[in-house]
Amino acid sequence: MNKGLLSVDEALQVLLAGARPVAEVEEVPTLEATGRVLARAQSSTMDVPPMDNSAMDGYAVRIADGAKLKVGQRIMAGAVGKPLEPATAARIFTGAPIPPGCDAIVMQEHCEVQGEFVLLKKTPKPQEWIRRRASDIAKGAQILAPGIRLRPQDTGLAASVGIKNLPLRRRVRLGLFFTGDELVMPGDPLPPGRIYNSNRFTLNGLAQVFGCDVRDYGIVPDTLEATRAVLKRSAAECDVIVTSGGVSVGDADFVKPAVEAEGSLLMWKIAMKPGRPLAFGKVGNAAFIGLPGNPVSSFITFLVFVRPFLLKTQGVIEVAPREIQARADFDWSDPDARREYLRVKWNARGGLDIYPTQDSAVMTSTAWADGLVDNPPNHAIRKGELVRYLPFSELYG
Ligand code: AMP
Ligand code: MG
Repeated sequence: MNKGLLSVDEALQVLLAGARPVAEVEEVPTLEATGRVLARAQSSTMDVPPMDNSAMDGYAVRIADGAKLKVGQRIMAGAVGKPLEPATAARIFTGAPIPPGCDAIVMQEHCEVQGEFVLLKKTPKPQEWIRRRASDIAKGAQILAPGIRLRPQDTGLAASVGIKNLPLRRRVRLGLFFTGDELVMPGDPLPPGRIYNSNRFTLNGLAQVFGCDVRDYGIVPDTLEATRAVLKRSAAECDVIVTSGGVSVGDADFVKPAVEAEGSLLMWKIAMKPGRPLAFGKVGNAAFIGLPGNPVSSFITFLVFVRPFLLKTQGVIEVAPREIQARADFDWSDPDARREYLRVKWNARGGLDIYPTQDSAVMTSTAWADGLVDNPPNHAIRKGELVRYLPFSELYG
């Protein structure tokens, strides 16, 4: 099988062994921390809620005092009530502290007001509608693990215990450049034989999705001098350099000699489809990953290889994507000897549809799809079978 080809897992192992989390940690306002990577675990310095409080708008009562109570006080959220006098209730609102002596809240829908009295139409259960102090978070408990990318609810949680700043890893500086004399930017005329530099957009987009500090060096002419010059410059400015094109066999290939002249390089042929060629090296202190020029291949090799490499460099601890078992609503009867990444979409029946053409020259397949099926070598898929589904939403995390 696959003579001379490296498996995806072998290549990943070498790549990840070469990835180092950026060492610098900076204190960043919690308000600006979403999307960034948390460097250290966070614990709460307080109980949440900080005091027993009402879960409802209603009346705070002492159950033993019975069903007709004089309304002795009003307690709004943010206020502090007095102890409940015998045979009285407190009008209380959601989030307001429970007054001493109260052992239940009766929601207002179960109460009838008669002048200065309230009648309870339902006997409350002990502690009903009382949120207990520390029932959510106890003082000292860990609330956020280190090495996670912070989501909106994570920064909200940090703020809920009063954390004003968070220790975050410095953003990874990601350099991008694009090789190929055939490339033209949208907006410029397209002479015969030329193509638009679509990879620039896909790779910039991916770099943004992963919260990188992007340095885009644009299109680099297919010459050794130009390629060496941009490598030297980007290696001085970036942690990781990702390029597209110029790594295929038989290409007007200046990536290999340029990286070898400025640093060191491994050239791989990977047993995967799409996306066979991949280059991995080092220039100065920067890691170098050369992706194939083919737009579908560069997109998928970014997700399979650059993504975990970047995440590890960012300080993320869990870098393997979760694969979800999903039902194939299609037959795939002519599998490749290489591991395949099929463009699929989750349908309303909870199964997966496949894009009719899986040709790696068809970029529309990636825009139509909402994920990939990770299909083992030589594995024919029968309709109804469970397959390994990698939603883009998972890969973009
Ligand atoms: P290469 O890996 O340089 O041999 O390129 C493989 C194929 O991808 C060729 O057909 C190139 O024209 C195309 N290609 C290379 N770079 C890009 C790019 N930045 N955007 C779109 N297509 C590209
Ligand atoms: Mg090329």
